[in-house]
Amino acid sequence: MTSALYSPTAGGSAAQQAGHPVPKPIDTDHVAELISQLLTALGEDPTREGLAGTPARVAAFYDVFLSPDPSTATCFAETNLSGQLVVVGGMSLWSLCEHHMLPMNLQVTAGYVPRDEVVGLSKFGRIAQRHAGRFQVQERFTRQVAEEIANVIGSPDVAVAVRGTHLCMSMRGVRMEQARTDTVQADGRFETDPVLSQQFLTLSTSQWKAA
Ligand SMILES: [Zn+2]
Repeated sequence: MTSALYSPTAGGSAAQQAGHPVPKPIDTDHVAELISQLLTALGEDPTREGLAGTPARVAAFYDVFLSPDPSTATCFAETNLSGQLVVVGGMSLWSLCEHHMLPMNLQVTAGYVPRDEVVGLSKFGRIAQRHAGRFQVQERFTRQVAEEIANVIGSPDVAVAVRGTHLCMSMRGVRMEQARTDTVQADGRFETDPVLSQQFLTLSTSQWKAA
């Protein structure tokens, strides 16, 4: 796969290269005011005891959540097969589904084939955290994480698998409680080499079963 994404001469930050608009600053006073209005529209009295501090709390939550501190994400290298495939897993993050504004939990596994050097583990966590701390859909999150890892390692040989648990699905009745959504983005050699692809998928899914 050849693309400007992998060109070392491409300008701009990694986020800009991957086509992510930088969100505007959060107006927490306005958010609190709107949450108060939402409560009113939902038939509640936002001034009653118990709800009085809620608009400010919700506004503070969005302020923190949508400005994530990437240093808090942790991950670990799962396997290194004959110096060829590196799989980084153990990343469990929260994001917000942009269709319902409800939380989704994302278990992330990334695989790549190193060219010159192995990338520091914390980098993967920071990348995943940055893309999770916004209104998202799982498919786009998966693609964006893969694109940015490809930029960082300077190679298109990247695969990312995500298992999502969406509150917008699991809150709709008992039958959907265990609903999971799996997404995979496989680029470069992961797209063309079935053995490599299968190794990555086996390692990813074995992690999920253990979780
Ligand atoms: Zn949703």
